[in-house]
Amino acid sequence: MRRALMVLAALAAITALAWWFAETGGTIEVQVGEFWIGVGLPVAVLLLAGSFLVLHALLSGLRALRRLPARRRAARAERRRSDGDAAVTRALVALAAGTPEAARIEVRRARHLLGDTPQTLLLAAEAARLGGREDMATDAFKALAERPDARFLGLRGLLRQAMQRQDWEAAHRLAKEAEAAQPGAAWLREERQVLALRTRDWREALALSPPGGPRAALALAAAEQESDPARAAELEKQAFAADPGFAPAAIAHARRLAAAGSARKARAVLEQAWMAAPHPDIGAAWLAGTPAKLARVKALEDLTHRNADHPESRLLMARIALDAGLTGRARAELEALVAAGAADRRAYLMLAELEEAEHGDTADARAAQARWLRGAANAPGAPVWRCAACGAEHGAWKAECSACGEVGRIAWSAPASVPAAG
Ligand SMILES: [Zn+2]
Repeated sequence: MRRALMVLAALAAITALAWWFAETGGTIEVQVGEFWIGVGLPVAVLLLAGSFLVLHALLSGLRALRRLPARRRAARAERRRSDGDAAVTRALVALAAGTPEAARIEVRRARHLLGDTPQTLLLAAEAARLGGREDMATDAFKALAERPDARFLGLRGLLRQAMQRQDWEAAHRLAKEAEAAQPGAAWLREERQVLALRTRDWREALALSPPGGPRAALALAAAEQESDPARAAELEKQAFAADPGFAPAAIAHARRLAAAGSARKARAVLEQAWMAAPHPDIGAAWLAGTPAKLARVKALEDLTHRNADHPESRLLMARIALDAGLTGRARAELEALVAAGAADRRAYLMLAELEEAEHGDTADARAAQARWLRGAANAPGAPVWRCAACGAEHGAWKAECSACGEVGRIAWSAPASVPAAG
């Protein structure tokens, strides 16, 4: 609206000026030597305006002509960029579809059109890996790692490659560099944990373990690896705190406390562990300092009195009572187990042993023994250290399953095919 008004005003002004010129009249004279030119004022003004317009058009044309190469360059760059973007998209599709040859061609096109950008380098690396060309992927990852804006991407690729070819030393170095480039990256944390497990660096694995991880197993494994007794003691304490029912940690922690002169604390640890998850080894550790057979029965009562009905409490009490010649006590415990349906093979075998201890080598004893041995054959087996991942049995607890290599999966459990006793 304002613009229209201004144009109207300008037109009015020009008209008024033209009118004034026409009214006023007059001549403009130019004389050079003998030449003389005279034109009327309106005509002169018209000529002036006309030549101004022509000059202006000429200059504008020249300017446009001078800018032409730059504009054409810009248009060409724009076209290359959009062609390059399209090639990147097609390369991504080819990668997702798992067609390495197509991916390689599109990536090459994209690199030609866009140059080496983080995107094209990463695509080149992924396409090379898909096509099984690890050396070419390494080159691309290295180029990425040299760019400050894409350093982490490059290191991540190189780390993955190092782990794949099991070059733990290089992987360790790359993980450190990647951590420096992108501190606290969640992916890196997981990868570093895998690395720590593979290299059996239990301390590092423990430090990186998520809250639900096998912290007790890792802490105990780290303690076994530790040469400094104070640090080993701290790790054992940590393992016991993570899982008081984890017998090997409780035993190690108690042994360390007893060695340091804290016998009372050591006993408290074993008691707590027995409450959490009774295990024959805890019983053995508890009784280790009591050689007298009758005294052992009393000592064991101190350990088991709070969960005397637990099958492991009854089994161990039967064993110690039988050893001390208290056959009546042993029979009471074992028959309670059978009555509760919680007797495993160990209980039946001990009953067979008990018959002989009570009655000697008699026909009645042999008949009773045969009955218990039949029971033993049908009873569930004793719990063992078993790998939850592959089912392999182990004679003692270990951090790592020697059969399948899984870490922190070996647990004290009943045979897989039979429900747990008790
Ligand atoms: Zn296993």
